[in-house]
Parts: sequence; structure tokens; C-alpha cells
Amino acid sequence: MIVDVEATRSIRQAELGSTKTMLDRVRTRFDLHPERLIADTAYGTGSMLGWRVDRKIAPHIPVLDKSGRSDGTWSRADFEWDAEKDQYVCPEGQTLKQIRRNYSDPNRGPTNGGRAKYRALKLTCQACPSKQKCCPNADARSITREEHEDARQVARDIAKTKQYDISMKLRKKVEMLVTHLKRVLGLGRLRLRGPCGANDEFLLAATAQNLRKLAKIFPAPQQTRQA
Ligand code: SF4
Repeated sequence: MIVDVEATRSIRQAELGSTKTMLDRVRTRFDLHPERLIADTAYGTGSMLGWRVDRKIAPHIPVLDKSGRSDGTWSRADFEWDAEKDQYVCPEGQTLKQIRRNYSDPNRGPTNGGRAKYRALKLTCQACPSKQKCCPNADARSITREEHEDARQVARDIAKTKQYDISMKLRKKVEMLVTHLKRVLGLGRLRLRGPCGANDEFLLAATAQNLRKLAKIFPAPQQTRQA
């Protein structure tokens, strides 16, 4: 059943904002507290994952990760994160640290905006047999750890579970409903203008969709003909 709708412009940031609005609204209106939230990669940004994990909503969402490399060299995923020691460990077993000593220059420490840079020692990388596979064009390997990386890891760990596979099948079902809204109920093109008009049309279409569903769950009793 569709329990809420919120029309937004077709901008990712606005769509993410509408998710927060709807989650708050269904909690206030219906006392609904979802344990998990299923969505596609567009909702797998660090900030959205962080927001959900903070609110104890399990993100069943593919992580939007741009750290992959197309040149065949090792990406961040090939390095092991050691939260206790605040360091990465490379495939050769060497450590990449954020700070190795106290610098007087604050720019050498953690970077701004919740991001942090972890570096391997130049001498170690220069002598490493895997340098070509790791950082062929740099003196030493460095890795940027994004803000909300812990929440991303939560989502990555969830993605390995059986429950996640079930969630992805459920997502396909919901996407079919959206396709039905567009193709059969004509929501592919809006007739009313402005955000209020869009919201009204979404609301009506969602109501029609729910009525269809209810009609399937509770079919009308068969009329028996009197002889
Ligand atoms: S180049 Fe450096 S970071 Fe990369 S695998 Fe070798 S020692 Fe580790």
C-alpha cells in the first residue's frame, strides 16, 4: 500500500529531502517506524545512508561508491579498514595512516568536511612488489575516507545478507507499481501545473492504486441470481 506521496522536482537532492519528509510524516500520522528502507542506488549516497543509520533504519540500498578504479589498479575496497587503530591495511599488509606524528601545520592532519586522507609511507611503497597494481603514478598510495563511511559499511554488510536479496525482489515489485502508475494511470505526464498540482495528481493516482489493491485483497461478493 502507498502510505504517503510527496511531489518534488526531478533533482536528486530534492528527492532525498522528500524521503525524510515522508518518513517523518508517516511516523506522526500512522505511528509507522520502518526497520528497513529499500531503495535504488540513487538513494545510496553517504549523507542519506548516514541519516538512516543514525535513525536506526537499516539501509537496504546499493551503496553509491565512486572510489572504484577503471585502470585495473586496486581501489579502496581492496584495502581493509581497521576502525580500532584508525588506519587502512593494504593488500601487502602495510598500514595507511592519517597522522603518523603531530604536525604543526593543521593542513597535514584530517581534511575538512568529515573526509580524511590516509597515506602509506613513501619508502614502503617504493620497495613494494605490488606498486604497479596499487599506485603506479604516485610515490605512495593514499586513500580518502569519506564522511559517513561507517554508514556505507553498514549498507555494504547488509548487502551480503539473504534479507537484502529478498528486499531487492520487493523493490522490483514496487517499481512495477510505479510503472503501472506511469503507463496505465497516465502519470508519465502531469496535467496540472506547479508543485501543488503535481502533488494533487500524485495523491489521486496513489489513491486509485490503493483502491485497485484493496479490490484485489477484498473482492466484491458474487451476486447470486434469484431463480
Ligand atoms: S604500494 Fe604501498 S600501499 Fe600499495 S600495496 Fe604496496 S606497500 Fe601497500
